[in-house]
Amino acid sequence: MKRIGVLTSGGDAPGMNAAIRAVVRQALHEGLKVTGILRGYTGMINGEFMEFDSQSVADIIHRGGTILHTARCQEMYREEGRLRAVTQLQAAGIEGLVVIGGDGSFRGALHLHELGIPIIGIPGTIDNDINGTEYTLGFDTAVNTVVEAINKIRDTANSLERIFLIEVMGRHSGQLALAAGIAGGAEAVLVPEQPFVLEELVTRLQRSVKREKPHSIILVAEGVGSATAIGDKIKEIIGLDNRVTVLGHVQRGGTPTALDRLLASRFGTRAVEELLAGHSGMMIGIRGDQVISIPLADVVGRSREINSGVFELMKVLAL
Ligand code: ADP
Repeated sequence: MKRIGVLTSGGDAPGMNAAIRAVVRQALHEGLKVTGILRGYTGMINGEFMEFDSQSVADIIHRGGTILHTARCQEMYREEGRLRAVTQLQAAGIEGLVVIGGDGSFRGALHLHELGIPIIGIPGTIDNDINGTEYTLGFDTAVNTVVEAINKIRDTANSLERIFLIEVMGRHSGQLALAAGIAGGAEAVLVPEQPFVLEELVTRLQRSVKREKPHSIILVAEGVGSATAIGDKIKEIIGLDNRVTVLGHVQRGGTPTALDRLLASRFGTRAVEELLAGHSGMMIGIRGDQVISIPLADVVGRSREINSGVFELMKVLAL
């Protein structure tokens, strides 16, 4: 193997740049050449390639987003598009690939693996919804961003003695809401993996009022439904005024935490080692303190369960 390619795909996540840096530096250290593929699979199909040297990844470890940009690519869903991608890779002499992204990006990667392209995935998504790894790149940073927002909103909630609902990202996954809710000391966390019972939430809030708790903070993962609609129902049922904050895209950006940078560095170097060992169709992940590699086929399309023990813990601590 003389040359490998690296791309970022799907939603961006802090730590992607640190992973690109690690892939490039490790590959150069091993005597490989490295091609950067711009705009995910779109750039692969269109041949948007750039040459990486050691200096081109200098000064990016602390930057959020991705210097390679990312995109969503409809052509990858069709065999014709994937064959065009393979032709472009072969023409550029790219003999192995590192794909940094989420579940969708890994589905695309698995197709390329089946077409004979050696490929290794690195999980990068703030949702932490990938099976087989305890952490994905960007999750820790996003949790810290949400906790910072909770801290600020808590000051106002306390002063105004009001209920605040904070809507956080997570269409199918409540990992971010749950982790930030516990770390931020929220009174309740609503996640798509658990049935949402309005009466239960209302009882909880009434109990808080009885105990003269000055305020309540409720975290709502977007997959549960609109925080505004939930706030309206609370007002309607128990007459308690509330305010809603939708955090939106501020959760995606920002400088990655040290933990995300460290993970990215370990994942990136391991991905290159896997390619050099002749492995393909694998994803890098972490379990305990061990960096592992597991088949992509065991990862894609399987939603990660929420830790029900942690969910119960949140309820106890919020009382
Ligand atoms: P993420 O990787 O963050 O989950 P997406 O689900 O949007 O993001 O997927 C990113 C890209 O991966 C898609 O735009 C598409 O190009 C490719 N992709 C996703 N699912 C498939 C699939 N089933 N087959 C082929 N390519 C796919």
